[in-house]
Amino acid sequence: MFPISSITPFTLQDYPHHTACILWFSGCNFRCGYCHNPDLVFGRGEKLTEEKVFSFLESRKNLLDGVVFSGGECTIFPGLIPLIERVKKMGFLIKLDTNGSNPKVVRELIERGLVNYIAIDYKAPQKKFFEVTRHKKFSNFSETLDLIFRQKNEIDYEVRTTIHSDLLDENDVNEIIFDLEKRGFDKKFFLQNFFGKNPTLGNLPPSKKINLEKIVKPNQFEIEWRNF
Ligand code: SF4
Repeated sequence: MFPISSITPFTLQDYPHHTACILWFSGCNFRCGYCHNPDLVFGRGEKLTEEKVFSFLESRKNLLDGVVFSGGECTIFPGLIPLIERVKKMGFLIKLDTNGSNPKVVRELIERGLVNYIAIDYKAPQKKFFEVTRHKKFSNFSETLDLIFRQKNEIDYEVRTTIHSDLLDENDVNEIIFDLEKRGFDKKFFLQNFFGKNPTLGNLPPSKKINLEKIVKPNQFEIEWRNF
């Protein structure tokens, strides 16, 4: 079945400096407690047909700069690479949103020049990765992160972390910052305060504010705060 559940037809916010649409992929291999879209994660609900998605994209050729592949987690869809290839051939820039769990797919996209921008979620430091995501393989995420940081194809990228006070505290955020510095990260790091409401996947209570004074100031990159 074609895995796209909906399309945001226009955004100025999701792909930095570009107009874009967003394809929302159904299904995810993580179970983050703060996730506010359980239907998308479990792949429930209607899906769009391939014809409908491509007739929409045809109608936006030369009008939008890019297409954002988001979800859910689009890299778990086995047909993602040929799909991106087809969309790229239509003339769109490609932005990938990923939780980093699938280094094999990200490597191929990078090596074949099929992606222009990657936004990767750094969900939690290694010791808390399972607790936050219910996914065991921090190693896969770590491999994807290094792949993105070391690529020489001039693909732009960002890293982002969502903070819910029940899952991450200031020390965890600092641990992520230290790790990013150690890996040579020098782009923009987005810290997203969780301000959503239930139902979340983990039925979490409202998040409390973290103490900004306890967050270290990195030397190599900038932090930008936003709400999630
Ligand atoms: S927030 Fe977590 S569970 Fe929800 S879609 Fe993103 S990676 Fe999947």
